[in-house]
Amino acid sequence: MDLRFKAVSEAGSHNKNFPIIDKIGGNAEHFASRVFNRQVMRQMLPKEIYKNLIDAIEGRNKIKPEYSDAIALAMKEWALSNGATHYSHWFQPLTGFSAEKHDSFIDWTSTDEVIEEFNGKQLIQGEPDASSFPSGGLRSTYEARGYTGWDPTSPPFLWKGGDGITLCIPSVFFSWTGAVLDNKIPLLRSDRKINDSVLRLLNLTHIPASFVQSTLGLEQEYFVVDRALRNARPDLVMIGRTVFGAETPKGQELMDHYFGSVKDRILNFMQDFENAAIGFGIPVKTRHNEVAPAQHEVAPVFEKTPRAIDHNILLMELMRQIAVKHDLAVLLHEKPFQNLNGSGKHSNWSLATDTGINLLDPSDTPGNNIHFLILLTAILTAVHEHSGLLRASIGSASNDHRLGGHEAPPAIISVFLGEDLENVLNNIEKTGSHKTASAKDKYDLGLFAVPELSKDNTDRNRTSPFAFTGNKFEYRAVGSSSNPAFSITVLNTIVADSLERILNEIEGNLSKKKKPSREEVASAAAPVLQKYIKNSKKIRFSGDNYSPEWHTEAKKRQLPNLSKSYLAFEAVKAPATIKAFEGVLNKEELLSRYDILLENYFSVINIEAKIMLDIFKTQVLPAALRYQLRVAESLAEAQEILGKKSKFSNQTKKLQELVETIDQAISASDELDIERTKAFEQEDLAEKAKAFGEKVTEKAETLRLHVDHLEQIIDDQLWPLPKYRELLFLV
Ligand code: ADP
Ligand code: MG
Repeated sequence: MDLRFKAVSEAGSHNKNFPIIDKIGGNAEHFASRVFNRQVMRQMLPKEIYKNLIDAIEGRNKIKPEYSDAIALAMKEWALSNGATHYSHWFQPLTGFSAEKHDSFIDWTSTDEVIEEFNGKQLIQGEPDASSFPSGGLRSTYEARGYTGWDPTSPPFLWKGGDGITLCIPSVFFSWTGAVLDNKIPLLRSDRKINDSVLRLLNLTHIPASFVQSTLGLEQEYFVVDRALRNARPDLVMIGRTVFGAETPKGQELMDHYFGSVKDRILNFMQDFENAAIGFGIPVKTRHNEVAPAQHEVAPVFEKTPRAIDHNILLMELMRQIAVKHDLAVLLHEKPFQNLNGSGKHSNWSLATDTGINLLDPSDTPGNNIHFLILLTAILTAVHEHSGLLRASIGSASNDHRLGGHEAPPAIISVFLGEDLENVLNNIEKTGSHKTASAKDKYDLGLFAVPELSKDNTDRNRTSPFAFTGNKFEYRAVGSSSNPAFSITVLNTIVADSLERILNEIEGNLSKKKKPSREEVASAAAPVLQKYIKNSKKIRFSGDNYSPEWHTEAKKRQLPNLSKSYLAFEAVKAPATIKAFEGVLNKEELLSRYDILLENYFSVINIEAKIMLDIFKTQVLPAALRYQLRVAESLAEAQEILGKKSKFSNQTKKLQELVETIDQAISASDELDIERTKAFEQEDLAEKAKAFGEKVTEKAETLRLHVDHLEQIIDDQLWPLPKYRELLFLV
């Protein structure tokens, strides 16, 4: 039987009740049972060493070298008693994925003696060959050494793959010269940077705290399709996106999927991967259907940023692997299907103190929030000044398919604040001083107090790429498949940078006053805030970001509209970025990231083009020609029998349409191939990315247009690829 119809029939037979495979609880007891967690540490380590380790986990201190052997021993014993045979430093190179290299615990001292070996040195440092990871020129192959080092802020865990269990040690990755080769180190540094500047703010405004960290709650959107159907599509197998596919008669217009009841088969899958996630200490909480058919969302409760990101990377991997057990395939790509919603990874970001204050929740510090207004102004300033960089940080060939597309945030970065905060800021802008507003005013600036925000207003503007939602910002432009580390690193870094500048000016106004009161700080801050609020005003937008009017308005405001990521990547090496990134990434490291972003961008477009050409030439075209022959033959035969050519003008027209479309598709595929080859000849990375982003993409779109047309006019029985209606509705 034809592969497509075999898959369709298999997909249909899966609808019997699928068993939940990983029945390991999902309860509180099971939480973090696969993690070298605090309880285990306390049981297995002497008090002093345990205390040192907790300090390291909290980022307060380093692990004392003399303790590392004892920690490694405890970790090894715990891992072996849970069936582990190997250990691995688990890290996040600049591929955007995670990487691991497994070593056996077993070592050979001589030919006939086997010991189980894992000491402090091996725990703290690994040395994978780094030559095949992207470094953007930071490390030439002849100096291939790259080091991994345990990041104790993230706990080791036991990963089960097949029948084997591996102790995974979350690590950072750097070169022998100390150059940063991963996504984790800059993230940790950006957290340190924002800690320093926000503490300075809290000191000034008399808010008790000894450290501040960013918090992150990641809402992960994804599609699920039947595995047999996915396997019959080379594009889904290789890149997770359909490069061809005509629209279905029914898409998402009835809105019957959003928050609809989840199909049993999908629910079992969700239950299964959530159970597994709980075992890794990932606090998964919310799940629901999304807008497009076959689209869903999972959201854990927010955590400290580095941990939330590690957990997200793990969660995506769990979802991929557990889907296989259910004969399903999870698609994390930003735009698997044209003309349907894409998927994002809404990044809910805030700043929390060790004393339990959410600094972006004005109700956490009622009547006392000049610090909130200063912070808010710093955020607006950062987004305004670095909107290109933010756009770059969420940029990729895959996210470009989504941004500005169907119901996705546009490529124009703007901020939504809600009516209440808009009023507060407009008032500061107008009056310039917190004292001029009348006491009766709802937005009494006497205390610089932010009024209680009404719920309606804090409910996000769902069209905004960066929306204030009452106690956090929801950064919606982040792509579903991405490692969000770089996006959040940028956010932390630029906010810290603008906050420093604002604080410098406020402190300048306070001259040399020792310990100024909050009132004095508010007075000194007023003109500074007024200036910065005015300067960053054009980044604020409360209307519908999906509307064409916004594009016109944004143009008037001279906001960048970088619809293609390669245009935004320039911002990664801009002087303002290099300055803001002091202490996070140096100039060389930023330049290397710029190169890697470009390389990744055109490589993905190139792969997609090759997949298109392959599918077209070896699957679509043969089917189309077979159909063309059949139509031509049947018409000729009819004409021969009936002998009246003119009577069949409609059939002749249909044949003509078919022949012409096939012809146009052939010429589009030839042109795509030519442009692809030409683009590859470009030496300069930026030029190459441009050629792929513009010319190659344009030809690919033309080819798709013709192929999708063919799909709609060719005998269904002959079409080789599972159609949208099958992929989206047969689960
Ligand atoms: P929705 O966006 O669907 O309305 P919520 O607002 O409840 O959902 O939360 C979405 C995500 O934001 C969750 O992961 C939640 O834990 C996270 N979140 C809530 N408060 C914070 C915070 N202070 N910092 C970071 N993330 C947060
Ligand atoms: Mg949301």
